[in-house]
Amino acid sequence: MAYIITDPCIDTKDSACVDVCPVDCIHPRKDEPEFATTRMLYIHPEECIDCGACVPACPVAAIYDGPEATPESQKTLIEANAIYRAGDAATVAQAESIVAQHASSRPDLMNVPAAERAVAHAK
Ligand code: SF4
Ligand code: SF4
Repeated sequence: MAYIITDPCIDTKDSACVDVCPVDCIHPRKDEPEFATTRMLYIHPEECIDCGACVPACPVAAIYDGPEATPESQKTLIEANAIYRAGDAATVAQAESIVAQHASSRPDLMNVPAAERAVAHAK
């Protein structure tokens, strides 16, 4: 199963993962128009080859090794990663809607600095 990006990316979005992904399956890239407006980045579930290169590159530990490894508090974002398609406004909006809902329903996590949020996922 593909890797999953979760909520520490919301306040970080630095594209470090994009730079190391060998198959260019993380979007939006900085050169894509959606980059300016999306709150986080997403991994294409069918294009990801499960190499794991993005995990150590992420400064805030936002990336999990598949849906089963994704903490309970982040499960809704699995769907956001699955839906997002670069260049498709409808799927971009759907994914962002899930992210907005997640952020508004989890102020306890969003109030934690992004770099410490992955630790909070486990609590
Ligand atoms: S696991 Fe590998 S292929 Fe999948 S998103 Fe990360 S870097 Fe890209
Ligand atoms: S490296 Fe982490 S924080 Fe940066 S864009 Fe990728 S998932 Fe988001």
